[in-house]
Formats: sequence, C-alpha cells, structure tokens
Amino acid sequence: MPTPAPDVAALAAGVRAANRRALAKAITLIESTRAEHRALGEKLLAALLPHTGRAIRMGISGAPGAGKSTFIEALGLQLVAAGHRVAVLAVDPSSALSGGSILGDKTRMEELSRQSHAFIRPSPSGGTLGGVAARTREAMLACEAAGFDVVIIETVGVGQSETAVAGMTDVFVLLQLPNAGDDLQAIKRGIVELADVIVYNKIDLDRKAANLAMGQMKNALTLLHPASAGWRPPVLGISATRREGVEAFWREVVRCRDTLAASGQLADKRRRQSLDWMWALIDSGLRERFRAHPGVRAALPACSAQVASGTLTPAAAATRLLDTLERRTHRA
Ligand code: GDP
Repeated sequence: MPTPAPDVAALAAGVRAANRRALAKAITLIESTRAEHRALGEKLLAALLPHTGRAIRMGISGAPGAGKSTFIEALGLQLVAAGHRVAVLAVDPSSALSGGSILGDKTRMEELSRQSHAFIRPSPSGGTLGGVAARTREAMLACEAAGFDVVIIETVGVGQSETAVAGMTDVFVLLQLPNAGDDLQAIKRGIVELADVIVYNKIDLDRKAANLAMGQMKNALTLLHPASAGWRPPVLGISATRREGVEAFWREVVRCRDTLAASGQLADKRRRQSLDWMWALIDSGLRERFRAHPGVRAALPACSAQVASGTLTPAAAATRLLDTLERRTHRA
C-alpha cells in the first residue's frame, strides 16, 4: 500500500511548535529523493523559510577520535543548561565513500539526546553533495524554524565535507589533537584556512605537548589568510571529558559571530553561502538530469567503451554526450 502523502501544512505547524517528532519527519521529507516528495519538501521549506536565520550556525570538524561527540555533548549540555535550544546535525562523508559510517554506527551523545531542548540528527547514508548530505543545509533551516537557536553541524575530516560545512555555517571550528602530524595534515589540506576557531582537545593528557602544538599553530596562522575577513582565529585548549575550557570556547564562538555581524560580514557571508548552495544544487541537478536523459543513456555505453579502449578521447566523448543533451533540448 502506498504511504499517504504527508500533510505539509500540519508538518510545518508541528515544526513551528517545536515538536521534535514533527521536525524529524520534516527532515526525512526534505531528505527524500523520491520525486513525489521533492515538491512537498520544497513546499514545506517555503513555509518554514520566513522563520529561519536567527540561529548561530556552527560547523565543527575533526579526525575520527579527536573527541567531537564528547565535546559537542559537553558544549550542548552547557548551552541547554543556559537556556539555549541546540540542534546537532551530523554529516558523514564515509557513508558516501564506502557505504559504511564513521559517525553513525556508535551511540553518540546519549546524555544530550535525552534533553528535551536538544535535537540530534545523524546523517543519512547516501545522497551526498561534495561529500555532504545533499539536504543538510535545508535540515539546518528546518531546525531554525523549530526555534533551535544554536545549530551545530559536525563532520569528519574526509573529502570535501569540511569545505561544504564551512560553506553553510557562520563559525567553523577545527578540533585538533596536540600532535604535529595532525597539524601538518590540516595545514596541507587547506582546512586550517577554513577555521574561525581552532581547538586543541585532550590537553589533560599532556599539557606541555598541547602548549607546544598551540604555539606552533598560532605561528602558522600568521602566515595564512583568515577564513573570515576582520577576524583572527583564536587557538584554544580544552579537555572535553573534563569539560574544561568549554565555556571559554563558546565565548569565542559568540565573539566571532558578533564581530562578523557588526562589520556586515555575516550578512555577506550568508548571502554568498545561499548563492553557492544554489549553484551546488544546480550542478548536482544537472548531473542527475544528464544521466537520466534518453539520448545520453543511449550513447553512453558506446562512448564509455571507446574511451576505455583508447579509440575516443575523454574530451571528445564528453563533447559528444553533452551535445546529445543540447540536440534534444532544442527539438523539444
Ligand atoms: P569523535 O570520533 O571525534 O567523535 O571522538 P569521541 O568523542 O568519540 O572521542 C574519542 C575518544 O577520546 C573517546 O574514548 C573519548 O572518551 C576520548 N576523549 C574525548 N575527549 C577527551 C579529552 O578531553 N581527554 C581525554 N583524555 N580523552 C578524551
């Protein structure tokens, strides 16, 4: 039996009333790749959009084991205790790369997930865009419409996911461990240049090593472009398990956002992010349509075989396939 079509108006009202089950359902609808859900998802987002934009949007990235979930839980609990409503969205690039999951498999942030003023959403498997769940930005907007005033988007440092998460948040945080290999990697991959705040976790294990790493990172930062104009990324030390340094961290996040807001940078950044997201969706939509096009589907096997056997150059094959698309479009 087909599932009945969701009632968009009721769902929007449920989200606006901060009903967590309605929010979860809304995000499932928004994330659905089924054609009949797409239009409903768009309608829902259109209804929610006027109620978005008021949250602090924080992205956080770090290698597996850096302590992201321990830290987000400590931070989230503190924020909830201070009267905030906190949503955590996880972006797990591993589910796209390997079909497995780095973030999703273990039970994470149990204590935070029991709080009525917290909402935690693991990342869906598949449906990725540049290593990011294709609808994470829309899920963030739904959380904002539900009155969450802090939205945290978490990702593992793999593939393009950091760039994508930095591209949809106000303040991007890099969680590091105090060892030089980690730092060099992050600098080489260009991730440090995305960061507005750099945090060293597990300083309880070896404070001397942590101080050394932090000093070196501060030096490295003087040579790099800051991620946001007019903001020098601070370098902080914390212990997530001991919940040490968490308050000072949040003060820096708020200071960063306030500084960007005061100079007009925040509005610029969000405008740019919206346009970038539009283009990212256009790119992925075009690719989808291209692959589904009857002319392309007919010509693709032969073109692929010829490219593989070396009788056709990849450039010529690409042109031929793209031209197929044009011809059909003109005739239509
Ligand atoms: P994630 O993979 O980045 O989410 O990392 P987790 O939060 O799961 O943490 C990985 C491991 O590091 C767990 O065993 C944590 O208990 C531990 N851990 C996290 N933060 C700290 C810290 O501040 N100090 C110490 N000593 N261990 C920590």
